[in-house]
Amino acid sequence: MATLRQNALLKAQERPSVSVTAPSLKISDYFGVNVFGTKQMKESLAPSVYKKVTEAIEKGSKIDPSTAEEISSAVKTWALAKGVTHYTHWFQPLTGSTAEKHDAFFDAHAGIEKFKGSALVQQEPDASSFPNGGIRSTFEARGYTAWDPSSPIFIFGNTLCIPTIFVAYTGEALDYKTPLLKSIEAINEASVAICQLFDRNVKKITPSLGVEQEYFVIDKALFATRPDLVMAGRSVFGHNPARGQQLDDHYFGTIPTRVKDFMMDFEIEALKLGIPVSTRHNEVAPGQFEVAPLFEEINKAVDHNQLLMDVMDKVAEKHSLKVLFHEKPFAGVNGSGKHNNWSLITDTGINLFQPSNSARENLQFLTFLVATVKAVYDYADLLRASIASAGNDFRLGANEAPPAIISVFLGSTLTSILDELEKNGNIKIEKGDNMYMKLGISKIPEIILDNTDRNRTSPFAFTGNKFEFRAVGSQANSAGPMTVLNVIVAETLKQLAKDIEKETSSGKEKKIAIVNVLRKYIKDSKKVRFEGDGYSEEWEKEAAKRGLSNLKSTPFALDTYLDKKSIEVFAKHNVLSGVELHARHEIMLENYIKKVQIESRVMGDLALNHIIPTAILYQNKLIENANGLQGLGLDNTAAIETIKDVSRHLESLKSNVNQMIEARKRLNKESDIVKQAKGYSLEVKDAFFDKIRYAVDKLELLVDDESWPLVKYREMLFIK
Ligand code: ADP
Ligand code: MG
Repeated sequence: MATLRQNALLKAQERPSVSVTAPSLKISDYFGVNVFGTKQMKESLAPSVYKKVTEAIEKGSKIDPSTAEEISSAVKTWALAKGVTHYTHWFQPLTGSTAEKHDAFFDAHAGIEKFKGSALVQQEPDASSFPNGGIRSTFEARGYTAWDPSSPIFIFGNTLCIPTIFVAYTGEALDYKTPLLKSIEAINEASVAICQLFDRNVKKITPSLGVEQEYFVIDKALFATRPDLVMAGRSVFGHNPARGQQLDDHYFGTIPTRVKDFMMDFEIEALKLGIPVSTRHNEVAPGQFEVAPLFEEINKAVDHNQLLMDVMDKVAEKHSLKVLFHEKPFAGVNGSGKHNNWSLITDTGINLFQPSNSARENLQFLTFLVATVKAVYDYADLLRASIASAGNDFRLGANEAPPAIISVFLGSTLTSILDELEKNGNIKIEKGDNMYMKLGISKIPEIILDNTDRNRTSPFAFTGNKFEFRAVGSQANSAGPMTVLNVIVAETLKQLAKDIEKETSSGKEKKIAIVNVLRKYIKDSKKVRFEGDGYSEEWEKEAAKRGLSNLKSTPFALDTYLDKKSIEVFAKHNVLSGVELHARHEIMLENYIKKVQIESRVMGDLALNHIIPTAILYQNKLIENANGLQGLGLDNTAAIETIKDVSRHLESLKSNVNQMIEARKRLNKESDIVKQAKGYSLEVKDAFFDKIRYAVDKLELLVDDESWPLVKYREMLFIK
């Protein structure tokens, strides 16, 4: 067997398992020990300082220098006692991962450990190494990070990490967190205004987020033999395993011991970091798993998801495993998503998407529900753009994944309630009538609580007490799509308030006014609602008839960011300026181009250096064999047939790779980045990837297993 593949397989097979023990039987003994959270602050800060921090967290008020000094000193003492030597501002640049710049506490000149308040509050990382979409070439060349006290400081490895935003000196956001925080403000303001129509006690509303993270796990040695996985995170070649596809739906095997140990290990580390993982191990495809922490305030949940991915990466190393976060690491097998479960929670403890026993609250529930559906309808393309990435393009619309068409699933109960409301809402409410009864909205809770009619094929589904945005890719930073969702719902709620106001100012009773507006919104947004099988071909046709977009490729989906409507909505809610949107658009296109370029190069290199030489050697063997048979006067048809097959695929492979290289050369001369990205999508990816893969995967079946250079799907997916 090809030695690299053979050695890797042997290594993977002989891996000893790494045993894991929890620090204590009780999770509460170690939950959050690596977090400078409320408990630690209360213990180590003077009451007046503690009060200022809580205010900063809750009301977003500024922290003055002397308070910062006291906090940094307490944090330093806490961290040093835990053996921490360095500190860093931890932020989320637009590369998609997290970034850090480590500084030592130890000051060699002074001979002591130092951590100033100013170092806690602000830093200047070398901004030139992060994407800025032209912002810093037009403006000033520096950026800074600033502490976000609403997400707790934590220890990762031997480093104290301070969650921060990352902005240019001219104020433009260069990260994911800044617009997210602003969108939280926007939706707070808009939803409080609506809530006040129902309940004067509500003063603050915060979005919640629960992230279900899907991922694949493979042995580290096998990973290392596949340049495509190493370079692109995805296997560009590989024939489907015989067991693969059937298992998509029915695979309920036990979790391999090595993976179980890995899960336990990363969960312990996550719990220490205050990430509320609840042990749940459902498997989807072979080699694929999921982790779903409990929901939290959205800003924390996003940080925790980013951190969790880092923790998983690091812990996997210890278990000689590699975690694949790519949306589609294996063609023909389930892709990975990151389901974003989103809701709105008031400071009085009410989940606005939770139907209740009180009819009044149900009207409030319906108001928020209908507004969200309307927002998704009005801004479907923006929502689609928010989940666009090269990786997700392979997943959306492929096996067991929602399509690129944005639609909303509500379930049969809510559907019939909205239908009723739309049809009969205009009823006359006489004195003494129970309006809620008449509208049929007094009996929502009993019916919804039994939410058995779940639709797993919808990209955006109502699931009992929250919306679940399922089209988000597994590698994505949730802040991107969540920022968009917050902004578009904020915008719709603002419009809703205006429309209600219009009705009441013409003398209508408040409740009637609300119902009238809801009826209109239900009608207007009806097209986006779909209850059927989102994976089916009929839906694609039906959606086209309804006029819904089906943007399958990232550079095309990203165009929406530059629409007047998008620019206006972001600006109006003070979340992103036109300049920032343009910059983001450019960065995303750059990322896209880079990804397709890398994949295309890896494909070419693998084909030219590994696949073609192997197939030619095998072809020679077959020719020898055919000649030998002929010399003996025996039938050699089978050998000749195989030689022909191999030749045909070899020729197609060689010619397509060459043409793809030509297309790349042509596109690399293109100076318009939009044209270049679209060109890469159509003229490189669409034009050649499938053709090249087809030839290679056919050769994999023809060439003898012994000499095949790449570790095969069945060898990677069915971990021991
Ligand atoms: P599924 O059926 O899709 O597997 P679950 O019901 O197990 O989903 O919940 C998935 C995620 O949704 C979890 O992270 C959970 O904490 C989160 N979740 C539950 N309620 C809410 C809520 N009100 N807001 C946001 N997320 C929530
Ligand atoms: Mg889910």
